[in-house]
Amino acid sequence: MPNLSTIVAEIAAEMADAPDRGAVADYIAPLGAVDPRKFGIAVIDADGVCHGAGDAEEAFSVQSVAKVFGLTLALGAGGDSVWKRVGREPSGTAFNSIVQLETERGIPRNPFLNAGAIVISDILLGNRQPAEVIAELLRFVRALAGEDGIFIDNAVAAAEEATGYRNKALANYMRAFGNLHHDVDRVLGVYFHQCALAMSCRQLALAGRYLMRSGRNPSTGHSVVSPQRARRINALMLTCGHYDGSGEFAFRVGLPAKSGVGGGILAVAPGKASIAVWSPGLNDRGNSQLGTLALERLVQRTGWSVFEG
Ligand code: GLU
Repeated sequence: MPNLSTIVAEIAAEMADAPDRGAVADYIAPLGAVDPRKFGIAVIDADGVCHGAGDAEEAFSVQSVAKVFGLTLALGAGGDSVWKRVGREPSGTAFNSIVQLETERGIPRNPFLNAGAIVISDILLGNRQPAEVIAELLRFVRALAGEDGIFIDNAVAAAEEATGYRNKALANYMRAFGNLHHDVDRVLGVYFHQCALAMSCRQLALAGRYLMRSGRNPSTGHSVVSPQRARRINALMLTCGHYDGSGEFAFRVGLPAKSGVGGGILAVAPGKASIAVWSPGLNDRGNSQLGTLALERLVQRTGWSVFEG
């Protein structure tokens, strides 16, 4: 295999010329204002070396990628009882779909759908104020990455709250089934601010290292989650991390990964690498068009697919 830095630089150069970059999400106004030509990639290898290219240092709205960190915290707080309130099946529906909630009595199919992440926000809330939960999330992600510069973009959070009619509908619907235990506005306060987490590709890849290291943060040597829990989070990312495009993503890339409508993707090559890509243009399933293409090429050139022997 050629040198990893060379592969990463080549992929970034190829993406700069890509003709079809997808469409930037504009239903949250600040996301619509992002330059569609942006592209960043950061790959942290098994030795902890970061190989970055393009806009790898620029902070972007990680959106649903943050659902991975929220889930990790909720499993730490609630253990396996989380699974009484959230399923573990791919949905085959869009990220903000409400249809399955009726037949499944307010239990979301998985924690990476909006409905699932709203239940996770309810679990995290406990008896606390939303601001305390978000402060805990920030501390957690900063500790994972070993970086203090990670922040919540309050303009994004405010825009989510102003236009979040579907998320409010999902929350109220689940509350009607008894699967939200707290005031809907407080739960959504947590959810909207979690989505507004802003990180660069390098910071995101750093934060994802515990998932490639059987649950350990390699900088500190501390266990973030057990090896079994890291495996399970990776399994959910593989099967549910790209909404109704999860099968296609597994087919093309073959890595556990979670996307967000800000155009970011966190991908894990267990034992080999933690990878973050960002390009704001999305495909028709709401996943980064060039981010997916870049990961597809990275896996072709490194042999990192989990399905490769
Ligand atoms: N904040 C977005 C929403 O709730 C997140 C969507 C996503 O990244 O999937 O619509």
